[in-house]
Amino acid sequence: MTAKHAVVIGGGIGGMCAAGVLSRYFERVTLLERDALPKDAAHRKGVPQSRHPHVMLDRGRRELEALFPGWGDALRERGALNFDAGVDLATLQPDRWSTRRRTGRVALCASRLLIESVIRDRIRSDPRVTIVEGVEVTDLLPAPGDSLRIAGVSARQVGAQLTSHIDADLVVNCSGRSSRAPQWLERLGFPAIECEEIDADAGYSTCWYQAPPANQRPAHWWWKGVFLNPSSQPKRPEDYYFALLLPIENDRFLLTLASWGGRQLPADHESFAALCARLRSPIVADALAISKPISPIFHRRGMQNIWHHYERWDGPAGFISVADAVCAFNPVYGQGMTSAAVCAQILRELLGEMDPADAGFPASFFKRQAEFVRQPWALSVARDRQALALKEGKAEPDEGFGGPSWERIFREGADDPAIAEPLFDVINLNRPPESLMTDGAFLAAVNELLQRPPLPAADPDAITAYPADPIAN
Ligand SMILES: Cc1cc2nc3c(=O)[nH]c(=O)nc-3n(C[C@H](O)[C@H](O)[C@H](O)COP(=O)(O)OP(=O)(O)OC[C@H]3O[C@@H](n4cnc5c(N)ncnc54)[C@H](O)[C@@H]3O)c2cc1C
Repeated sequence: MTAKHAVVIGGGIGGMCAAGVLSRYFERVTLLERDALPKDAAHRKGVPQSRHPHVMLDRGRRELEALFPGWGDALRERGALNFDAGVDLATLQPDRWSTRRRTGRVALCASRLLIESVIRDRIRSDPRVTIVEGVEVTDLLPAPGDSLRIAGVSARQVGAQLTSHIDADLVVNCSGRSSRAPQWLERLGFPAIECEEIDADAGYSTCWYQAPPANQRPAHWWWKGVFLNPSSQPKRPEDYYFALLLPIENDRFLLTLASWGGRQLPADHESFAALCARLRSPIVADALAISKPISPIFHRRGMQNIWHHYERWDGPAGFISVADAVCAFNPVYGQGMTSAAVCAQILRELLGEMDPADAGFPASFFKRQAEFVRQPWALSVARDRQALALKEGKAEPDEGFGGPSWERIFREGADDPAIAEPLFDVINLNRPPESLMTDGAFLAAVNELLQRPPLPAADPDAITAYPADPIAN
């Protein structure tokens, strides 16, 4: 089946993954993007999050490779780093350093700018996709004589008043976390889309640094990246922050200080460096001492989990919403790009089975998308619910991955492959959380752990300043 024309709203990672899939099934795909798109890996207004680190989960790396074969090599050629988080990341858990252990999964570290740029090059070279830049979609258009079908969009040049109409057999909304599609649909008389929101008031402060080349760094620095969790027994204000040092292309790194609960974040280089100096390990301050800041301090709030439940809603034919425009997560868990790529694959599967002109196509898509999205959602909101409970002085909910029992399993099971490997796969969205409940080997190891008396909490003052470097496996 080849349908005629699909319109994609938004040229972020969600929109490009969708366009890459649609071009296999539609004669023409038009991708409408509000921004002028850079030729290379550069910032643009529509994705302010590109100033912050973007961690790619294992599932996301694999799905992007399946959508755009050779994507990983292209990213590496432009400077992305191979990275095994078990070996290359110095991780300070709430109460101890993680043991170094090979995970067998090689992640890719790069800036969001580079990730987006490499995908954009692929989309630009797709003869069926036309990217129209500097154009803002302002409304959805119903089909003449059929108010239950969307047949195009209304759009205008950014800054202009005059709108024009673009016809489409399928409109795919990928306009991100601030998508206006729910309002457009209500204007056409469709019911409001139920929206769930969980806001733990997380915030990021990020600075970019130029580091010396690897061969000029101190010999004992085995780590490529650093992740310092908040302390399990916070005593000082800085114990509530986490720090992520993510290496990216061209010997640069992004350093992010983050926290939940609306905590104040450093606004200038001085206070940023001061907070780094007070973190639980000097490892971050050491890196800053030999590196040069190359950006201002970028702030970000408004990172709540938002899920527009399109799957519970009765909407028109000819229209679907994908990626952040449906479900945006607190980015602390690094799930957004992976989720966008998986949702594009779900679209691909359905296009292989069903005519997109079919009135039931959107409902089938929304149902399958929701079946996947609830997995990252469950992981993301569990920890945020816990943070909210702590902020409000309530008991921590002992459910989902945020609860005290799971905390213990994560903490005490980290060195047991029967526990750590399945958890790694769940966190990387390689398998759904509920699959753990039928995994005999995992359950046996967890039961054994829970029957032992809990390990006494480590004395935070006894944690060594630096992690040990031997690899355990
Ligand atoms: C601070 C922060 C850090 C993050 N860190 C990570 C991470 O570590 N790992 C990870 O996987 N994900 C992370 N994410 C999430 C990730 O950025 C997104 O989930 C992912 O890029 C998919 O986004 P999207 O394409 O759906 O939307 P976006 O990237 O927001 O793109 C939407 C696009 O639509 C365009 N647009 C909007 N409205 C219109 C309109 N009316 N007409 C035309 N164009 C329009 C915008 O200009 C933009 O280009 C982070 C997000 C934030 C906020």
